[in-house]
Amino acid sequence: MLRKVLYIDLSKEESWVEEKQELFENWMGGTGVGISLLQEECPPGTDPLSPRAPVILSIGPLNGIFPVATKTVATFKSPLTGELGESYAGGRLSLALRFAGHEAVVIRGQASQPSYISINDSEVKIKDATSIWGIDAQTTGVILRDRESGVGKRSIIRIGPAGEARVRYAGVVVDTYRHFGRLGLGAVFGSKRLKAMVISGTETIDVPDVKRYKEIYNRLYKTTVQTDVMEKYHDIGTSVNIATLNWLKGLPTKNFLLSSFPDGEKISGEVFANNQLIRRLSCAGCPIGCVHIASLKTAFSKHHEFEVRKVSYDYEPIYSLGSNLGVGSAEGVLQLIDVCERQGLDVMSAGVILSWATEALEKGLITSKETKDVKLQWNNVEGYTKALENIVKAPNEFYAALAQGADYAAQKYGGMEYAMTLGGNEVSGYHTGPASIVGQLVGVRHSHLDNAGYAVDQKAIKKQMDAEMMVDEIIKEDNSRGVFNSLVGCLFARGVYTEENIIDSLGAVGICKTKEDLQELGRRIFEEKYKFKVQEGFDLTHARVPKRFYETISAAGVVAPETVEEMLKIYRKKRGWS
Ligand code: SF4
Repeated sequence: MLRKVLYIDLSKEESWVEEKQELFENWMGGTGVGISLLQEECPPGTDPLSPRAPVILSIGPLNGIFPVATKTVATFKSPLTGELGESYAGGRLSLALRFAGHEAVVIRGQASQPSYISINDSEVKIKDATSIWGIDAQTTGVILRDRESGVGKRSIIRIGPAGEARVRYAGVVVDTYRHFGRLGLGAVFGSKRLKAMVISGTETIDVPDVKRYKEIYNRLYKTTVQTDVMEKYHDIGTSVNIATLNWLKGLPTKNFLLSSFPDGEKISGEVFANNQLIRRLSCAGCPIGCVHIASLKTAFSKHHEFEVRKVSYDYEPIYSLGSNLGVGSAEGVLQLIDVCERQGLDVMSAGVILSWATEALEKGLITSKETKDVKLQWNNVEGYTKALENIVKAPNEFYAALAQGADYAAQKYGGMEYAMTLGGNEVSGYHTGPASIVGQLVGVRHSHLDNAGYAVDQKAIKKQMDAEMMVDEIIKEDNSRGVFNSLVGCLFARGVYTEENIIDSLGAVGICKTKEDLQELGRRIFEEKYKFKVQEGFDLTHARVPKRFYETISAAGVVAPETVEEMLKIYRKKRGWS
């Protein structure tokens, strides 16, 4: 397999391909290749919204070849945190890149006018997007589907008005229902005047030993569909966690003022499944179908008929725009998700920022002058809808501050102790105990998906674990996910891809790795990422934990600051950091 990187320079309107066998041999693919290219392309101190800042999209050796290896990783400098930006998306993108023959794409520069990139196998064109600039993310997809007559496997990724306005947590919508959601890739696209990318490919893939390949494919496929490893993702989906975490007192509610939501039953996964769910979809190459789509009936406009919109939902949006804003109806949550989808905002950051603003208004740090008379009150869906639109339009200093993230807004107006961020990133929906806090703080992208600290907490509730044991689990996950994210698999399929299955599937595409090689690779990838973070100013010894985490009871009881401090100390020692 020839392993190539496609370079696109928007300023010079040029593109070219480089063979990079050594890069892929050293770093496998996906996140390993992504961080290595970011080190090469992004000089220290680069403004993330300047033409000098690159965007790197990369896939791994298993994408398009084995089941549930469906993700693409975007690596960039985050305009939200000012350090490592890393975000994963499914949909059809990895398949389209594979069949177009590009394992990585590096985008440099800034277009002179709104543009989109069209990649069709080796043909790359930079096209005028003036007529679709300003249009919402969903409609942009519809227009490009008609305009671009790509053949083969095709994927369309695009930003909405939030990315164009450079909202620091704007995302990129991938094939309608998937996203590069976190850490502001949409703003980076906006800064490059890059509205969208349309990728299609018709190449074929050769494997060295077809018989062996089929054997391993069938083994992985059977584990995926005939065991219970991935069952929960298809049935109710991740939103099944709403009821569980609510019961455990781990469901962040009203900006973490509470950890269980009295109206939790009204927004549970079961309620969505019974009343709102209309279909399930899959990323290309996945037999599971965990993408849950609901119908939302809304008034088309005043005095007009209704329209029915299709909105995808998951656990995290239901937490961030539901319990965390005190929204106690499935329709209300779907309406807010739909606004974020159209604007192209990251739902998690948006919800956490609105919850900070609601509390800041309650406490008198801001007034109706700042909110422009928008009533930011728990469960006020109309108020939150208006506020989300205002964040993108930035009609005054207050909304412009909200567009910069919760940390920025709290530094300006106060309320830092309840600005719920870790490492500058708005937190995910788990108040499960100390491992969730530490996991997000030390994780390379400050996400619950870096090392699943929330799962360590839940293990520790069932079986006594001391601080050191919890830290060991976090480090183990951090490293092993670096490998899995280089392949690049869907994290829901971790149970399918055991170490043995990873080694066998790599062998089937001609890559020989031992268990030790993989462990070493995981460690190296983590270190490279931390090098980048530190170079850009991240300092774990000064990382802030919002006081609110210590005030509200979690699933593991009240978290003591001393426990978190002790875990961080152990963590630094085990990583060999002074
Ligand atoms: S489990 Fe869900 S997110 Fe993962 S690849 Fe399948 S459909 Fe996509």
